[in-house]
Amino acid sequence: MWGAGLLNGLRITLRNMLRGPITVKYPHEKVELPERARWAVEPTFFEDGSPRCTACLTCVRVCPDHILSLDVETREDKSKRIVRFGYEIGACMMCGLCVEACPFDAIEMGHDYELAVTDPAELRRTLLADVDAASAAKHREEKAKASGEAGEGSDA
Ligand code: SF4
Ligand code: SF4
Repeated sequence: MWGAGLLNGLRITLRNMLRGPITVKYPHEKVELPERARWAVEPTFFEDGSPRCTACLTCVRVCPDHILSLDVETREDKSKRIVRFGYEIGACMMCGLCVEACPFDAIEMGHDYELAVTDPAELRRTLLADVDAASAAKHREEKAKASGEAGEGSDA
C-alpha cells in the first residue's frame, strides 16, 4: 500500500519538475485576467457614451457593506440627474452582489487589479457625477434594437 503512495508522490514531483513556470515576473509581466475575475466596481455606458445607470438605487440597497451611495435630483418632468454616485473601494469585499442585482447592467466588476493608493482619500471613488441618469425608455430602445438585429440575423 505504501508503495503505491510513494509512486504517486514521485509521479506528481516528476510532473511538476517537467512543466514550465506558471508565475510571471510581475510588475514587468502581467497576466490577462479571466472574464469572471472581480475587482473594483465600475460604471458602464451606452454606445453614445452616456451612463446606463437609471439611479434606481437597487445596488445601494443590496450592498452588504453599505459603501455605495447615490445623490440624485429629480426634475419636474421626472427625469433624474445623478449628482454623485459614490463608492468606497477600500471597504469593498468585491462580492459582485451589486453587479448581479443591477437590472440595467449599469455597473460591472473591473479587471484593474493595481488598486493601491497612497492617499486614503482616493479610496472614496466617484463612479459618476453630474450626469443625466438613463431613462427606462432608453433601455427599452436598446433592447428593441438588439432584438431587431437578432431577428435580422436569424432571417439571413
Ligand atoms: S462588490 Fe459587494 S461590497 Fe463591493 S460595492 Fe458591490 S455589493 Fe458592495
Ligand atoms: S448601477 Fe444599476 S442598480 Fe445601481 S442605481 Fe444604477 S441602475 Fe440602479
